[in-house]
Amino acid sequence: MYEQAVWNEQVIFKLGKKGRVGHVLPGVEDEVRRLVGSVDQMLPDSIRRTRKPDLPELTEVQVVRHFTRLSQMNYGIDSGLYPLGSCTMKYNPKINDQLANLPKLSMVHPYQDEGTVQGILQILYEIERWMSEITGTYEVSLHPAAGAHGELLGTLLMHACLKEQGQCERRTEVIVPDSAHGTNPASAAMAGFNVVVIPSADDGCIDVEALKSVASEKTAGLMLTNPNTLGIFEKDIEEIAKIIHEVGGLLYYDGANLNPLLGRARPGDMGFDIVHINIHKTFSTPHGGGGPGAGPVGVTKDLAQFLPVPRVTFDGERYHLDYDRPRSIGKIRAFQGNIAVLLRAYAYVLSMGFDGLKEAAETSVLNANYMMKQLGAIKGLMIPYDDKKPRKHECVISAEPLKTETGVTALNVAKRLLDFGLHAPTIYFPLIVDEALMIEPTETFEKEELDRFIEATKQICQEAYSSPQTVLDAPHNTSVPRLNEVKASHPRTMALSWRMYLQKGEQT
Ligand SMILES: *Cc1c(COP(=O)(O)O)cnc(C)c1O
Repeated sequence: MYEQAVWNEQVIFKLGKKGRVGHVLPGVEDEVRRLVGSVDQMLPDSIRRTRKPDLPELTEVQVVRHFTRLSQMNYGIDSGLYPLGSCTMKYNPKINDQLANLPKLSMVHPYQDEGTVQGILQILYEIERWMSEITGTYEVSLHPAAGAHGELLGTLLMHACLKEQGQCERRTEVIVPDSAHGTNPASAAMAGFNVVVIPSADDGCIDVEALKSVASEKTAGLMLTNPNTLGIFEKDIEEIAKIIHEVGGLLYYDGANLNPLLGRARPGDMGFDIVHINIHKTFSTPHGGGGPGAGPVGVTKDLAQFLPVPRVTFDGERYHLDYDRPRSIGKIRAFQGNIAVLLRAYAYVLSMGFDGLKEAAETSVLNANYMMKQLGAIKGLMIPYDDKKPRKHECVISAEPLKTETGVTALNVAKRLLDFGLHAPTIYFPLIVDEALMIEPTETFEKEELDRFIEATKQICQEAYSSPQTVLDAPHNTSVPRLNEVKASHPRTMALSWRMYLQKGEQT
């Protein structure tokens, strides 16, 4: 059994003592002071800080120990399986970090003259070409900072296209299946559309008859995830595209989960007009490492004129930032996107090559199906929708029987998994499955690690029948016991920093 490290670690603000410093080379300190002083002189009073920042003074070894201990009380992709469905939490090759951190790449400034940043422009240009090729689209913008941001850009592009055709007043509806990620209806609503939700059929795919009944001259477009959030490939995709195109709508592809299709199938070829992909899921940097992401958007030739500025262009000799796009929707973000995340993707694609990407896709599908078969056979769990149908990158298991028979819920199972040194899967999503456990193993974990997860789940389900309280009270072996989830996310008690915590403490 696993036991997570428990350190009685104070916040760093409490560790400091006046006068403690890190390692400084002799002579450097004075030079730094002189530089800071001269920069300070250059600042106008209006933007100069009036009081010193309240930073703790610590030795280097204190800092290293502090963060090492915190990391030991944490769980990350480097610790083991991280099977969050719909998130594609892959292992992140360290070389991608190293390349993205090369000073020649990380130290350039977005306001530099384009003549001095030819290298990075070339990289961006090439990533755009690769993403076009991978998605089967004509042109790609790397600007969006996340999947949801890509969706917003995509729906704004729909809007721009309708405006051009003088159809804004008439086409006000965006259709979304009930299995969609919550960001889809949110993005469509933000772009000013009315959202029309259609149910899934018994096989977990879009109900084509339901789609036909809502598709009309009011339809601006359909937002679709394929494979959908059940991990099932929409077999009727060609017919779906035809239905939407025939009524004059656009087809939007939520490609947050492109992993299983890499090198095997392209949304552009399926008839999609607008495609967003999550770089920070499929192409390394899982979920931005907790930070920013990148949600590039690819479009058809007709829609390319609306993409945000500036576009990176190449005249055969030099790369340029092109602002001269009169039909562009303008800017959706400062500069060129989240470069560090894009650089990791560049390194990732280069190191994998086409065959490597294809193999990653195939292995991710194999792993998800292995998981589904093994987990579905456990007493208390079941596979919703057609259990004979193979899944793509992920599978959704339901703990509904377990809940009915023992009172142990999907949430309890997820919490108990932490006691085995495993990250919990996504739970209660997609909304169409009761007691959902959504599992995406990805291609980056070996079979032994998948088996460890399967064995742990089996043991937990057995416990649910024999000693349910053990599961209900989990986790027991983690550095932090079960969190109060309401307190952790309620605006009144949520504290994202030490300063915020102190302020809230004073208020409540
Ligand atoms: C993750 C995800 C999104 C949203 O991406 P973010 O980068 O988190 O905004 C949208 N759709 C699907 C299917 C996803 O899995």
